[in-house]
Amino acid sequence: MTTISNRLQGILATIQSAQAASQYQQQVKLLAVSKAQSSSVIRAAFQAGQRLFGENYLQEALEKQAELADLPIEWHFIGPIQSNKTQPIAQHFAWVHSVDRLKIAQRLNEARPADLAPLQVCIQVNISHEESKGGVAPIELEALAQSITALPRLKLRGLMAIPAPTDDINQQLAQFKQVRQCYDALLAKGFALDTLSMGMSDDYPIAITQGATIVRIGSALFGARTKK
Ligand SMILES: *Cc1c(COP(=O)(O)O)cnc(C)c1O
Repeated sequence: MTTISNRLQGILATIQSAQAASQYQQQVKLLAVSKAQSSSVIRAAFQAGQRLFGENYLQEALEKQAELADLPIEWHFIGPIQSNKTQPIAQHFAWVHSVDRLKIAQRLNEARPADLAPLQVCIQVNISHEESKGGVAPIELEALAQSITALPRLKLRGLMAIPAPTDDINQQLAQFKQVRQCYDALLAKGFALDTLSMGMSDDYPIAITQGATIVRIGSALFGARTKK
């Protein structure tokens, strides 16, 4: 077995045991975060059974998508979105996790090709109040969710969060609980959501205890990224 295949099996086993222990009894999907990884590495992960891949940078993603066009990969966009990039994002991805303002949602809606399924979207919520981070403040969440629900070419699936990095497990847990509360508040308002995109290489088992349904994993699968 290759290293990627070994790592993939290890991550899937960890996901499975965290899922079995979760009070939410949710299904958890692995999104392989392939930023800074080559097409051949992505191809190896695909051959090991992985189907969902996440990219942060549009230009890099488009190049790899062209090289991997023979594979039925489900591509997820998870990076910050500039408004002049909405058209190619709407054309080349099945999912977008990082919607955090109405203008971007409207532009994605207008640009989503009619022959494709609606674009599956998550709203990125910023619970750490870090100005530098993307994401909508929890207090603005309901209004944005309401507006997105009215856009016919988008399908609102849930929330995505990137909590402030910390080695403190209690801190990790507290942050995921906050995201969970935002999610529960929307469910209580009647939004039909089924996706909580949270948890990365260092904290995904904890995210799963709080109901994560998509974990976004890069370095634990592919090894450390070399800086761009
Ligand atoms: C890079 C990245 C990840 C994966 O991070 P790892 O720590 O390598 O698992 C997940 N989500 C987002 C939004 C990212 O940018």
